[in-house]
Amino acid sequence: MKVLVTGGAGYVGSHTVRWLSQRGDRVWIYDDLSRGHREAVPADQFIKGDLLDANKLEAALFENGIEAVVHFAGASLVGESVERPDIYYRNNVAGSLSLLEAMRAVGVTRIVFSSTTAVYGTPEMMPITESLPLAPINPYGFSKRCVEQILADYQSAYGFSFAALRYFNAAGASPDGDLGEDHTPESHLIPIVLQVALGQREQIVIFGDDYQTPDGTCIRDYVHVDDLAAAHQAALSILCSPGDSQAVAPQKLFMNLGIGRGYSVREVIDVCRAVTGHEIPAVVGPRRPGDPPELVANSSLAQRELNWQPKYTSLESIVETAWRWHSQHPNGFAEDKVSVES
Ligand code: UDP
Repeated sequence: MKVLVTGGAGYVGSHTVRWLSQRGDRVWIYDDLSRGHREAVPADQFIKGDLLDANKLEAALFENGIEAVVHFAGASLVGESVERPDIYYRNNVAGSLSLLEAMRAVGVTRIVFSSTTAVYGTPEMMPITESLPLAPINPYGFSKRCVEQILADYQSAYGFSFAALRYFNAAGASPDGDLGEDHTPESHLIPIVLQVALGQREQIVIFGDDYQTPDGTCIRDYVHVDDLAAAHQAALSILCSPGDSQAVAPQKLFMNLGIGRGYSVREVIDVCRAVTGHEIPAVVGPRRPGDPPELVANSSLAQRELNWQPKYTSLESIVETAWRWHSQHPNGFAEDKVSVES
């Protein structure tokens, strides 16, 4: 199948590009490189472009005979979304609308959308099923929720086929250590803890230990990035099978992806200590605004509808791959990147 992956130079995007290519799809990457890495994707399949550039998008879709789109492009930092909602509504909502219109103009109607657990806000019930209310608490979550609604409306009005995959905490790296997580600045827990192990930071600051959880720190469901990639491929197969997603009840097109087991921040640090053999000093700091105490997925819908089973079912196995990447690429994709401050 010929697939356009927007945001394909980003973290989950680049792993998905590789996953699809290795399994026989022809893949093009459409990315503005505002956050992604040119080095993370093959040069001959790369198109540098902005989602709001409708002409370029239409050309990318039409000239390459694209049959389906996997849509990652967008901004994804909760804190930034609170300070700069304009970025989130422009990149995520206006950008997605521009993409859908370009698809409509050239007759491409299949799309797998990268959504998020942030659409649930702070749910009261764990684990989280797709039937819980959608109550985002920040512009990032609202922007993704909004695109989910647009997709449902495009399905009804224009016959689009879609799946929206709500990831929990993407983590890990490709097992060969060639591809991994590299954000600037880094804000995610596991890469930061591993930077401490590498001596690039002095310590990890735990954002609050007074939550209503067994050890007082926040609990998250970490899911391996290649397992996410596999789910995208499975979703594409459904969209492209006879009858495609029109045959699936609309409420089943929104699917959680997590391993169904939560780890606290302290547990994550302990696992990183065990995997790396480094001491990893930790201190407790204030809570980070907007952090729900616990987010753990019930992914049985994806298991049923996509026949999806995560291969990495323990945090140890996920951190091992992340450590391979970080220890082999201490400065990420850029050779000349300087060490970060603690
Ligand atoms: N966290 C932390 N210290 C850090 C970074 C993150 O204690 O330097 C915590 C954060 O408060 C959250 C968990 O680690 O409870 C996972 O955060 P991350 O930013 O990796 O993902 P999120 O859950 O925000 O998507």
